[in-house]
Order: sequence, then structure tokens, then C-alpha cells
Amino acid sequence: MIYNSCPDCRKKVQEEPAGYRCESCNKMHMTMLPTYMLNAKVSDLSGSVYIQFPRELGDPIMNGMTAREFQEFKEQSGNDPEVIRNFLNDNVLNKVNISITNFSSITKFL
Ligand SMILES: [Zn+2]
Repeated sequence: MIYNSCPDCRKKVQEEPAGYRCESCNKMHMTMLPTYMLNAKVSDLSGSVYIQFPRELGDPIMNGMTAREFQEFKEQSGNDPEVIRNFLNDNVLNKVNISITNFSSITKFL
């Protein structure tokens, strides 16, 4: 749900002993940005579809919590799946439901 991204292009980077390699920029970086990749299942009468919320769009959906802050929260919770699930229920799923009401505005981002 969180991946390590290139500070320049926000694509996924590979962690290597010397740093983080971005295939897209063909560069090694000393730092990376943790970035959300959120998936939501949206159902209506005609069936269901999975939406992937890319990159920057993850931050507003996560209640303004950045991916780095979320990673810290996960570590503090000891990666307890129960705590994380409750947190997501409280903070994310409500948000996504609100966004789904405005589905047409989401699709503009995709
Ligand atoms: Zn890059």
C-alpha cells in the first residue's frame, strides 16, 4: 500500500546497497519518498470495479496524513493489523465513501 518512490518522478525505486535506483530516471538517489498506492473497491448495481488512487491523490484521501506519517504510525502500532484496520476504517473508508459520491471528479484524476 506504500511504495518507495523517486523524489524526481515519483515512480517506484529499487532499494540497493548504494541507495535507491530509479529505472525511469536511470539514476541512483540517496533518499526516496514513501508514496501511497491505494486501492478501493467501488460497487454499484452493475457490479464492482477496483480503483487505484495514484500518488499525490493518496494524501488527501488519507486525511492529509502523508505516507511517511502513516509509515511511522504503522511502526508505532507494531504493525498490528487490527490497529491498522481500525485506523483505516475510521480515517480512510469514510473519506472514500464521500469521494465515491463524487465519482466523476475522481475519474478526472485517473
Ligand atoms: Zn525517477
